[in-house]
Amino acid sequence: MRFYKTILLPLLALAQFALGAEDYYKVLGLDRQASDRQIKSAYRQLSKKYHPDKNPNDPTAHEKFVQVSEAYEALSDPESRRIYDQYGHEGLKQRKQGGGFQTHDPFDLFSRFFGGGGHFGNQPGQRRGHNVEVKVGIALRDFYTGRTTEFHWDKQQICEECEGTGAADRVVHTCQVCGGRGVRMVRQQLAPGMVTQMQMQCDACGGRGKTIAHRCPVCHGERVVRKPTAVSVTIERGMADGARIVFENEADESPDWVAGDLVVSLFEKEPAVDDDATNPDRVDGAFFRRKGDDLYWREVLSLREALLGDWTRNLTHLDGHIVRLSRPRGSVVQPHHVETVPGEGMPKWHEDGDSVYHKTEFGNLYVEYVVVLPDQMDSAMEKELWALFQKWRAKKGVDLHKDSGRPDKPVMRDEQEHGHEEL
Ligand SMILES: [Zn+2]
Ligand SMILES: [Zn+2]
Repeated sequence: MRFYKTILLPLLALAQFALGAEDYYKVLGLDRQASDRQIKSAYRQLSKKYHPDKNPNDPTAHEKFVQVSEAYEALSDPESRRIYDQYGHEGLKQRKQGGGFQTHDPFDLFSRFFGGGGHFGNQPGQRRGHNVEVKVGIALRDFYTGRTTEFHWDKQQICEECEGTGAADRVVHTCQVCGGRGVRMVRQQLAPGMVTQMQMQCDACGGRGKTIAHRCPVCHGERVVRKPTAVSVTIERGMADGARIVFENEADESPDWVAGDLVVSLFEKEPAVDDDATNPDRVDGAFFRRKGDDLYWREVLSLREALLGDWTRNLTHLDGHIVRLSRPRGSVVQPHHVETVPGEGMPKWHEDGDSVYHKTEFGNLYVEYVVVLPDQMDSAMEKELWALFQKWRAKKGVDLHKDSGRPDKPVMRDEQEHGHEEL
């Protein structure tokens, strides 16, 4: 048994090697259950990462770029994915030989995703689209714990139906009128005997130099469609209110230019106490206020608690953990006293996050105490309290008026100046 195992493993490895191709799912970093959307998203990320324009000094990047585009084409088509799942690379090879499958140039495929000529715009004359800024409201608790969330925006995309050609049959013809130049010369008579030649945009092709026979039914020949597009954004712990996350080349697409950047800026949205989505546990998180790395909290004490101590409060923090505040008996808290609780503020954002190289530090929590006096008092209680204070006032009471050093009676200016004796 063991003998077979040892001999079988190298053989299998050899077989894989002989085919000369790596598993397509592995190339895209996915497993076999991956959805169409995951396949698309993996291609978007990896094709940008390995694009030769971005790796001019790395010859292996080009190879990887080709691999990624091959893997995408094999897995994005349901029929070829089925064949690949069943028969592997060999199955697809046979299908290709039978003429049932055609691979694109990897740069063509890239331009179907990001527009332009399949390059990043390093070439002269390569135009770049505008950047798009999107603001996304994030709950304070998500800034504290970190979270991956999704939002949608109306993005202009290259039409998948016609692959950005605008033609139902995906065939583009050179304009017969202008010969593909997009302009034509027009002779114009300004006055008798005076003729001038003007260059005008070709009206047959709208200046594009190209025409199509039948318009694409989806984009109506526009080559692009605008539709809601999901973007997954990761909020790292402690990111600042107003932090910007840049998605390279993920803004509006067009066959005429390379897509610009999608810039997502995060802002702290108003806390929603009753909102189950952002505040599922109804934790006190809605009442924290943030200033940079610090948090602020207001705690209410009764007169008895402020004066005599012996109380405990359990604050539920933004991630649900408990912060205990308390005073022993005999400990007075002045109104508006601010207590500093070190390490219970916001996590301090760091590019490494929590890793072996870095441990997250936290700001402070500042608790302000508000003392609330009773509006009404039971009359018996009032009498007892009155008597009590009268008794102790006589013994060792403090007279704030006397202590302030201010005169007993209003003093007139001239009285003071002339040194009048008091009557
Ligand atoms: Zn034309
Ligand atoms: Zn179309």
